[in-house]
Amino acid sequence: MERIPVSGPWITAREIAYVTDAVTNAWYGNANVWHERFEKSFAEHVGVKHAIALPHCTAAIHLSLLALNVGSGDEVIVPDCTWIASAAPITYVGATTVFADIDPRTWCLDARSFEACITPRTKAVIPVNLYGNMPDMDALREVARRHGIAIIEDAAESIGSEYKGQRAGSFGATGVFSFHGSKTLTTGEGGMLVTNRDDLRARVLFLRDHGRPPGDRLFHNTEVAYKYKMSSMQAALGTAQLERVEELVTRKREIFAWYAEELADLPGVTLNHEAPGTKNSYWMVTAILAESIGLRKERLMELLDAEGIDCRPFFHPLSSLPAYSGSPQAAVARSRNSVSYAISPFGINLPSALNLTREQVRRVAVALRAVLAAARPA
Ligand SMILES: *Cc1c(COP(=O)(O)O)cnc(C)c1O
Repeated sequence: MERIPVSGPWITAREIAYVTDAVTNAWYGNANVWHERFEKSFAEHVGVKHAIALPHCTAAIHLSLLALNVGSGDEVIVPDCTWIASAAPITYVGATTVFADIDPRTWCLDARSFEACITPRTKAVIPVNLYGNMPDMDALREVARRHGIAIIEDAAESIGSEYKGQRAGSFGATGVFSFHGSKTLTTGEGGMLVTNRDDLRARVLFLRDHGRPPGDRLFHNTEVAYKYKMSSMQAALGTAQLERVEELVTRKREIFAWYAEELADLPGVTLNHEAPGTKNSYWMVTAILAESIGLRKERLMELLDAEGIDCRPFFHPLSSLPAYSGSPQAAVARSRNSVSYAISPFGINLPSALNLTREQVRRVAVALRAVLAAARPA
């Protein structure tokens, strides 16, 4: 029985041709041509002024915090349910991580919980477009504006998503993307920071190259900083993927539609939400089981694994992880974030790889139905 992978890219002859060109020609005077092409077309796609290619999205969040002067004594709010990369850079800069609750429908940062977490020390918020969905951006932006808090939009999972006709990644002081191999658009490893602000762009370019301005040839570093650069082979791969981004996002939406059709009449199973006025790019098709079924995500993953189906657990609340066991903020979050703690134990990401077939989706649906039928009390 062929295993069904949970995620993976869609690579064509175009990607191979562009990477071949980069490895052949992008040296000497042409060392930056693929970066320039990738960054320019990426900024155009998102609808922002600047895009800066980076080695990963984690670096993009780190540089965003540094460029916004977030540091020791400051607090940064993140939704409790997200990949740890959304939050880890808060610790890198010496700031305090505050875990807010998620919205029960979008699974993204809840605006009321965000506001309730604000203190005089709050400097930034990192809303996350979870699994390709968008939060209530108007509400989040209104709260942030009223309290003078900078937004770093974690759009790692949401290339091609939209909110009221505006592209994901364009809502904050900065927006950040990941091109990890599991993401909708991939460069193997890679990331992008986007911004409309010239000052942030200049500061990020300086910080990501060991504290020297772009074009410096005299090795005159004025600050101890970081080395966060993407290779031209990755930029070439990203350029090819970006030229196909509509195709990639359309396939993701198609995969979601297949699952929605297969699982439509299955009681107790909730799939990703798409609020009116938003476009969900469905990075990962996600199923939340009703608690009454009595199946937790770890057991469900085991049962599907036995059928040759790879799944992932819905992100655990960060505040529940051993990594944050010493954090007083995590202790507060564990009793406050009731939505995160109600949803996360019962959620899994279903196979959502870009090479998935209609037939494989049917096989997953059949397996899921069988597992649920066996679990349901008679
Ligand atoms: C993948 C991901 C990241 C991190 O991306 P890297 O490129 O691996 O650093 C950050 N935030 C979210 C929400 C992600 O899914």
